[in-house]
Amino acid sequence: MRIDLHTHSSASDGTDTPADLVRIAAAAGLDVVAITDHDTTRGWDEALAARPAGLTVLRGTEFSCRYVAPGGRRVNLHLLGYLFDRDDPPLRAARARLRSSRRDRGKIIVDRMTAAGLPIDWQAVSALAGGGTVGRPHIARALVRAGVVASVDEAFAGPVSSRAPYYEPKADLDVLETIALIRGAGGVTVFAHPIATRRGPVVPDEAVAAMAAAGLDGLELDHPDHGPADRDRARALARELGLVTTGSSDYHGSNKATPIGTCTTAPDSYEALVARPTALSPAG
Ligand code: AMP
Ligand code: FE
Ligand code: FE
Ligand code: ZN
Repeated sequence: MRIDLHTHSSASDGTDTPADLVRIAAAAGLDVVAITDHDTTRGWDEALAARPAGLTVLRGTEFSCRYVAPGGRRVNLHLLGYLFDRDDPPLRAARARLRSSRRDRGKIIVDRMTAAGLPIDWQAVSALAGGGTVGRPHIARALVRAGVVASVDEAFAGPVSSRAPYYEPKADLDVLETIALIRGAGGVTVFAHPIATRRGPVVPDEAVAAMAAAGLDGLELDHPDHGPADRDRARALARELGLVTTGSSDYHGSNKATPIGTCTTAPDSYEALVARPTALSPAG
């Protein structure tokens, strides 16, 4: 059994349509794939409709969250929610709020770039997002098309970086509240790339303990952004807190170099996760 529990489609900042995503998953030899676009469930129906025989599809979303430490320090993080009721009103409103903030913030970043003389406009970025969740990868691709940078990677190292003068943060949800919200909507939760030190600041161990106390189900352990020491720490935390551990590629199509199925989840961990009572069942 090959199980990849974290992938993105063109419903957010991946480059494959949801239908292509599930075909690519099957062609790569996966038995289970989760579609987890940023702050949206928009790709779910298309992915299910296009599901090749033999492939199980898990419906999920990657939520943009923050953890605020007792001293006031805040860290941004990503929370994966699976198999929740997409019509649950508070959760639906939370996703809509995140997406609308992403659009406003995307426009602000693009306006700053335009004011500085970069050949980019909102229309081009919006067209690349195609009605899906807007993210910096769309701005990065617009800059590649305009010839400002040679690659998406180069854009993230330069003008699209959070350290660039154009940067604007986006809205996020309190992670402890969001865990409760997803549980309330019948879903299960996994803390995405929890110890990805190469991405930037990570939460302290106490934060993961607080999340576990709030009902967190799992930690993503095998992830392309986790080095060996990160994995050791995630494994130790999961053991201490009784959390399921998952593995996934965080596939983004051609926006990132990582192929689908690069990291995978052990079958018994997957079974433990989906054995919990949930609003939806894995389709397959
Ligand atoms: P945003 O959510 O709009 O702040 O943009 C962050 C997203 O950009 C993350 O979800 C990643 O998927 C993506 N990302 C971050 N770094 C890179 C990179 N070097 N190349 C491609 N995508 C990236
Ligand atoms: Fe992304
Ligand atoms: Fe993420
Ligand atoms: Zn992701």
